[in-house]
Amino acid sequence: MLGFSGNRTWVYAQSVHGRFQKIHRVSGVLLHAILFVTPWIPIGGHPALRIDLPARRIFLLGQTYNAGDTFLLLLVLLLAAFSLFFFTSLFGRLWCGYVCPQTVFLEEWIRPIERLIEGDRTARMRDDGKPWTAGRLARRAAKLGLFAGVAFVISMAAMSFFAGAPELWTLQGGSVEYALVGILSLGLFADFAWFREQLCIYLCPYARFQSALTDDESLVVMYDPKKGEPRGKDAVATGGCVDCKKCVVVCPQGIDIRDGFQLECITCGRCIDACEDVMHKLGHEPLVRYGTEAELRGSKTRIIRPRTVVYASLLSGLAAVLLVSLTGREAFQATINRAPGSLYTVDDDGMVRNTYLLKVTNNDDVVRPLEVRVDGLPDAVVTVAPIELAPTETAMVPVVVRMPVHADGGRTWPMTVHVGAPGGDGDDLALETTFKTQDE
Ligand code: SF4
Ligand code: SF4
Repeated sequence: MLGFSGNRTWVYAQSVHGRFQKIHRVSGVLLHAILFVTPWIPIGGHPALRIDLPARRIFLLGQTYNAGDTFLLLLVLLLAAFSLFFFTSLFGRLWCGYVCPQTVFLEEWIRPIERLIEGDRTARMRDDGKPWTAGRLARRAAKLGLFAGVAFVISMAAMSFFAGAPELWTLQGGSVEYALVGILSLGLFADFAWFREQLCIYLCPYARFQSALTDDESLVVMYDPKKGEPRGKDAVATGGCVDCKKCVVVCPQGIDIRDGFQLECITCGRCIDACEDVMHKLGHEPLVRYGTEAELRGSKTRIIRPRTVVYASLLSGLAAVLLVSLTGREAFQATINRAPGSLYTVDDDGMVRNTYLLKVTNNDDVVRPLEVRVDGLPDAVVTVAPIELAPTETAMVPVVVRMPVHADGGRTWPMTVHVGAPGGDGDDLALETTFKTQDE
């Protein structure tokens, strides 16, 4: 079958058991819990996580974030990026092997379904070499039908974060949302049925910049040639590689780890489980394990090295800024600007009028009445319509300030606009601006 590389050798990964497969089960359960349960858990009247794109709001663990919190979102994204850099420099591609949704869905759904319907590696290879029969067609149709079902369920779960799980699953979502579910389902189906390991090798951006993030002291899966070579049947007595190829046939990326570390390797540990099984039965140490290239050379692996120090420092700095920003987050935000094109006008009664536009954003999920007061202008009269913001609403409110001309004042008066709860209770925001007038 053709792949991006021109020729593709289909990978028939054999099933394997072992301690790293148990870790796969745990990480799979956790990822599925996040995907399928989180959108249904209500906290503070909203799902634990919901991204409301049309209203530009994110509900997270009982807090509501809106467009005014873009800085926080940027900080979180930077934190996630540097966490990935830091984590990768120490532990290599453990994300790919244990947490990446691509790996988890293939491990937890697709390969078990394939094994259940078409058998393990040998049966599938034998079947694929035969002409199409009614039985083979039925098996293939059943397998692909189940793949399509899994793709649809995963797509619905993913879209629940955006459209709301109860609405989506009870067919009360919008047509755009169901269209997106359809597109995502098709993409996932193509991945499950055909693309698989090629996604990691040719499309995944994270895989592409691996070599820049790792070095000889990052954790990888490696074969120990000092113990393993020369390989062959004679090695049974010496603890070398008996060339059983178990580590090769279980590999979902279709590589032979005995050829040395390769960028295709997602460090899933399947080859380690396979080799441990073989070598423990023979009474020897396994030849494939997690380790570093430095260890293999006989050097010591350093955790503290320039790149990990730089990443750790940046991470700590970003985490501190995020913490301070979150704890100092205001219940509402306000900015004031002079109305476009206006400086001042003189009314019929001789009062000087300045007009401003007050932009207020309610950061919380409650209705918020606000009051505006002005300081610094003697005898000023402020006219502003009552403000009552719906949850997370942003409003532009005209504020008119009028003041008589004062003999002792200049043409520009500093003034402070206070925005806060009616009656002066709660947090006030003080906004500095100026009042323009004429000489007496
Ligand atoms: S070589 Fe081993 S760790 Fe790497 S992808 Fe293959 S089975 Fe997983
Ligand atoms: S599983 Fe171990 S013994 Fe078997 S081929 Fe691989 S490295 Fe050699």
